[in-house]
Amino acid sequence: MNIPAIALAAAAVLLAIIPALTAQSAPAEPEMKFGIRVKPGPMDSVLLKDYKPDSSLVVPVTNIAKARFPVIDAHTHSGMSHIRTAADVDAWVRTMDEVGVEYSVVFTDAYGDAFAMQIALFAPHRDRFQLWCSLDTENIDDPGYPKRVAAGVERCYQMGARGIGEITDKGSGIQEASLPKGKRLHFDDPRLDLAWEACARLKMPVNMHIADHPSAWQPLGPHQERTPDFQTFNLYGKDVLSYEDLLASRDRLLLRHPKTLFIACHLSNHGNNLASLGKALDRFPNLYLDISARDYEIGRQPRTAAAFLSKYKDRVLFGTDMERDAEMYRGWWRLLETADEFMPGRIWWPYYGLDLPDSVLEALYRNNAKRLLNWAPW
Ligand SMILES: [Zn+2]
Repeated sequence: MNIPAIALAAAAVLLAIIPALTAQSAPAEPEMKFGIRVKPGPMDSVLLKDYKPDSSLVVPVTNIAKARFPVIDAHTHSGMSHIRTAADVDAWVRTMDEVGVEYSVVFTDAYGDAFAMQIALFAPHRDRFQLWCSLDTENIDDPGYPKRVAAGVERCYQMGARGIGEITDKGSGIQEASLPKGKRLHFDDPRLDLAWEACARLKMPVNMHIADHPSAWQPLGPHQERTPDFQTFNLYGKDVLSYEDLLASRDRLLLRHPKTLFIACHLSNHGNNLASLGKALDRFPNLYLDISARDYEIGRQPRTAAAFLSKYKDRVLFGTDMERDAEMYRGWWRLLETADEFMPGRIWWPYYGLDLPDSVLEALYRNNAKRLLNWAPW
């Protein structure tokens, strides 16, 4: 073989292997998504928890300083919201005046002597607050427990309690102690029958937090629906009842105690499926809802949510459950009263205003609470 022939053969070999080499070492073809060539860049290292895009959208922003009707906020807390002193209560009343909240229902998370202390704390403003008590969930295996818990309800009523709640079962029971499955106290447990009957007799509504947002039962990862701030509530893989079992326990409870009025808070944690939630309202006349802490649920489906709130306008109460900042209340007014678009929220989907008509807004803000709650003086 002469030199030119060797050169030709070598070139032929190189030509044969170069495509294979480039195929191995060159970066993969950029991915095409909807006709856009997606390239790597700084956005690839942004953490989900840090992602807070600035919006360039220019659309009307309606600031509503005061609600259109005097509001009854049917879902607030004193314990975890750090209401400790008379000055704290005074400050809260000032904020209520500024934003147009006439009255707040306060969940004290207390019964017995601890409840008496809450009554003393709020008594100077008894025209602005109604206090609800909790349930005794100590020693639930004690044979005397059913009578004791019912007597505790009665005693709190005598002290001034006008409702029970918020009572929470996210799948591990409403008792505070951690107990194995089968030992826990769920809403439909017969040991609570006397207590729920006492509530009916005393006209004390029960605010119940049953289950949690359904995404809490889904794994934390790339398909998790809610923002990383909510991962603290995740229950995936934990030793708790399933979401479906919890809603089934709600239904058994409602059937078992038709005379007791239950307000399932946070849209019964079922606001992701308002058609199904509507069926539950149709089926159980003693079931009511509050919209507290589900701004993001109604804000992402404004037309469906507005239609739902119109259809069930006698069944849903307004509540906040989000501390006491004036701007928090005003965020609710904007969401419910305006048709503003793409409002920043506290989750990664923006909200759209529901633009509720007056009749629905007034029912939600106050008329249902006026009709359903126990207004006996305390
Ligand atoms: Zn709450």
